[in-house]
Amino acid sequence: MVSSVLPTYNRAPLHFVKGEGCWLQEADGRRFLDLGAGIAVNALGHAHPHLVRALTEQAGALWHTSNLYHIDKQQALADRLVELTFADTCFFTNSGTEAAELAIKMARKYWHEKGHSERMKIITFEGSFHGRSSAAIAASGSEKMTKGFGPLLPGFVHLPFGDHEAFAEAMKDPEVGAVLVEPIQGEGGIRTMNDACLKGMRAACDATGTLLILDEVQCGMGRSGKLFAHEWTGATPDIMMVAKGIGGGFPIGAVLATEEAASGMTAGTHGSTYGGNPLGCAVALAVLEIVGEPAFLEEVTRKAGLLRQGLEGLVASHPDIFEEVRGEGLMLGLRCKAPVGDIVSAAYKEELIVVPAAENVIRLLPALNISEEEISEALSRLDRTASRAAETA
Ligand SMILES: *Cc1c(COP(=O)(O)O)cnc(C)c1O
Repeated sequence: MVSSVLPTYNRAPLHFVKGEGCWLQEADGRRFLDLGAGIAVNALGHAHPHLVRALTEQAGALWHTSNLYHIDKQQALADRLVELTFADTCFFTNSGTEAAELAIKMARKYWHEKGHSERMKIITFEGSFHGRSSAAIAASGSEKMTKGFGPLLPGFVHLPFGDHEAFAEAMKDPEVGAVLVEPIQGEGGIRTMNDACLKGMRAACDATGTLLILDEVQCGMGRSGKLFAHEWTGATPDIMMVAKGIGGGFPIGAVLATEEAASGMTAGTHGSTYGGNPLGCAVALAVLEIVGEPAFLEEVTRKAGLLRQGLEGLVASHPDIFEEVRGEGLMLGLRCKAPVGDIVSAAYKEELIVVPAAENVIRLLPALNISEEEISEALSRLDRTASRAAETA
């Protein structure tokens, strides 16, 4: 008999009942050090007092009205995001998937309004992940996600990761209207697109007016050590998808865009019942008040350096278990030689949460305000995890 929860996840036998900072308490009392942060969602850890206050204050005042009316917190959040980024305008969603939906619609509408409906093709990359809607799985193209769900939304051109020639060739297609890419692939195994690649992509897009859409759902909101990962490169997108960390655990996402890229999205062309509601926006504003501070981001980079250095040490001391450190900032991956599932299970035994990704990589995505002591503790637990995995191998 099917479980009352649709069994689309293989769940670990863990039941967390309480969280505080980087720590999760299991129902049986064990305290786990959380390097997953709900897959890069709990940007400020669990139960951060500033976020709890923002949420409860808003909960006592107003939960939901509708986008039929002005929402002051939504306006304030949009103003702040516009101030801090390349963007001129924002639309709020409830998830990264919904942000992908709008980014794709926005690109197509842009070309339609320009009288070039034929430019509906969007270039995407192997290993990418943009969500689980029909459009988002079609965008990624991975058979693991698309098999059995056809017919898929047409118009996506899937290219191998890091193949410059294939990209240059695909850009010659006059029907291409946009490029959609993650600056750092998360689900794909913490694969970073190097700065020169992203800059080159920007230049290639500029040459043909092609829209550059960045998916910063996982790598954005301070995770890379900049508010958004593309800031390291100097190249900016036309459209950007954000979610995960922006709400610190409250479900909210956003599409940020330039005025030009958003020019087709006039009244009535898109909507959301919940998107940008007062609760979500109050929490996201509180997250941004902390993560948007340059001093906070510098601390992320400094602590990321400590974690990375420690991980390099673990690769050196456990060469049969770990192979390579990947990623930027506090979006790090350890490519494993042992099967990734075994490493994740061994970590659970050491009361440590890590998240698997493709390419046999474990992801380390701790809260951005993780302390130095917690980093050392994480490294010792990972060290013991590796020893344990070596014993059972
Ligand atoms: C998680 C993720 C998404 C989808 O976000 P949801 O909130 O799960 O819908 C899209 N893109 C990237 C890069 C992600 O990591």
